[in-house]
Amino acid sequence: MELAKKFSVQKPSGMVRVFQAIDKMQDVLNLSIGEPDFVTEPDIVEAGAKAAKDGFTHYPPLQGFLETREAACAYWERHHGYKSSPDNVYISVGGLHIPWLAFGALLNPGDEVMLIEPYFTPYEAQIRGNGGVPVGIKTREENNFAPTIEDLRAAATPRTRAIILNYPGNPSGRVATREQLEEIAEFVEERDLFVLSDEIYESMNFTGNDHVCFANIPGMRERTLLAAGVSKSHCMTGWRIGYLFAPQNVINTMCVLSSFQTYGVNTLSQKAAAYAMNTQDEKVKARAKIFGERMKAVASRLNQMKGVKCADAEGAFYLFPNISGTGLTSEEFTWQLLNEAHVAVLPGSAFGESGEGYVRIACTLSMEDLMKSMDKMEEFCGRI
Ligand code: PMP
Repeated sequence: MELAKKFSVQKPSGMVRVFQAIDKMQDVLNLSIGEPDFVTEPDIVEAGAKAAKDGFTHYPPLQGFLETREAACAYWERHHGYKSSPDNVYISVGGLHIPWLAFGALLNPGDEVMLIEPYFTPYEAQIRGNGGVPVGIKTREENNFAPTIEDLRAAATPRTRAIILNYPGNPSGRVATREQLEEIAEFVEERDLFVLSDEIYESMNFTGNDHVCFANIPGMRERTLLAAGVSKSHCMTGWRIGYLFAPQNVINTMCVLSSFQTYGVNTLSQKAAAYAMNTQDEKVKARAKIFGERMKAVASRLNQMKGVKCADAEGAFYLFPNISGTGLTSEEFTWQLLNEAHVAVLPGSAFGESGEGYVRIACTLSMEDLMKSMDKMEEFCGRI
């Protein structure tokens, strides 16, 4: 069967090629997976099962159950001082569907969306798929992989409509400072933009400072679509629950889009997520502590390797060491490491040009396996 032309030109991304190769290999220490290694807590699973037994087996409300929206509001108020009404919340099929619906609701053909490099790759296709034009913004490690106002001004055009922020960031694991975010806010105001702030890693911040919710910066609330979810914080990737805080007209339009795409979100997952957001604060904190400890240990090992430099862990569960001192490109490093040492990482170049010279390491294995993979990587770096 002949596929649409758009697929005939599309080749698998740098990330997908690594995943496909791992599938065919055995004994790989896999540091390429962006999801917690912990399974969902049993009482959360029980809440989902109970919902099924209680008869929550019908179509859900398009916007999501009130109970789930209330739980998201309470979680954000408790953790980050962000106050919202459940009317301004939309429950989505994972965090991933939010940008798709948001761009569907807000972009006109040719609208440019600023994507800060290195970026979470799906945003790019989601912008294009909704008629927009992604514009990569180069960043530098010295600046925390956050753009300066000059970087943003230089890339702005009359068609610039929006900017995507993602701190703590995937793949960089970096956290923009409050000052950096305030500078971005100044630019947003200056150019009258909207912001999609993907804060799905809000629970994992090791900088010693509190997570800065972009919508809490003065003037930003009405311009910000605040996206998050339970996948990372509550180890619920398979349940597919994300959520968005946004102005009412955006939420209403997302419900319309959902009415002919997914018709809402799995009822049992929504009930489990509501329970999770209401009851697991201590566990969320305890797991973040484990990720922080793992990242610290891995960063310290990386810094002892020939040609590798790694900044301190800041957020999410990713480290993004600079491997340019090995003389290899990030693709060469990734493939040689995989083929020769059976350790899988992702090439930084898969996340935009600014990622060249770096690889992404997800600390989503046990400490023991992380240390084993560091032994192999150290040996590999020693002989290139
Ligand atoms: N945003 C970012 C930055 C992510 O890293 C991910 C998951 N890798 C998502 C969104 C999507 O999360 P979910 O699994 O809830 O769809």
